[in-house]
Amino acid sequence: MPELPEVETIAASLRRRTVGLEIAGIDLYFPGLLRGDAAELAKYRGKKITGVLRRGKMLLITCGANHHLLFHLKMTGGFQWAKKGARRDAYTRLRITFKDLERSLLFRDVRKFGFLRCLETGVPLDSAELSRIGPEPLEITKDDFSRILARRKGRLKSLLLDQTFLAGIGNIYADEILFAARVHPLTPASPLRLKQAERLRAAIREILRKAIAAGGSSIRDYQDADGMDGLFQNEHNVYGRKGEPCPRCGAKIRRLVIGGRSSFFCPRCQRIRSRRSSEGTSQ
Ligand SMILES: [Zn+2]
Repeated sequence: MPELPEVETIAASLRRRTVGLEIAGIDLYFPGLLRGDAAELAKYRGKKITGVLRRGKMLLITCGANHHLLFHLKMTGGFQWAKKGARRDAYTRLRITFKDLERSLLFRDVRKFGFLRCLETGVPLDSAELSRIGPEPLEITKDDFSRILARRKGRLKSLLLDQTFLAGIGNIYADEILFAARVHPLTPASPLRLKQAERLRAAIREILRKAIAAGGSSIRDYQDADGMDGLFQNEHNVYGRKGEPCPRCGAKIRRLVIGGRSSFFCPRCQRIRSRRSSEGTSQ
């Protein structure tokens, strides 16, 4: 599933290429994509794209002042440019055509879990989908992070995947973040010492920023809206590397199923600390 770095990469590309374009029409080929009334799509004809935003794993394309197309790519959704009259393939669920542009923008989705909602509002971030997710992991302050962490029970791996805790982190980046922070995926979120919490927040920022800079991770079929592969999969330290040596200590990477999801970690670098062990003593 595209996570924060992949959706951020797509949003940046769409922003560069679509802001200022006028929508000539939207064709919906798979009605199940749209949560809402298909007649709403007609309102976008003649509207100019004024902005493209990412929030969590969702993508918001703003048209005019108060109209927004909110996409969730889910498992396999993505955008692709195509020549205007080109035949669409079986996975094309929607096509946006633009005035005076020879290319149109396709939304493709093999698994069909992705969705689109049309929002008509001046404050899209207050919509049901966007308001119930947690803060942005690259924007949350030290103090706020400690506060939301202290309120939570459960294990860190599951917590990082919980979109109401932080928005945008999925399975790949959760594992890479926990490795970078040197904490075991089953570590209880609370009580996490301040120093550990700060190390976790630093790891979140470091991993997500590096991944965005690399254009995300291309696992399975992810490509950005320009058809480019991400490169961050080459920098994965633990994700998908069961049995391989840890790049830090050489121990074999292990896989554990937590909450139905694979978790990859180094058993030596990421120990569950006993109460007596002090900060910074594990390697
Ligand atoms: Zn290690």
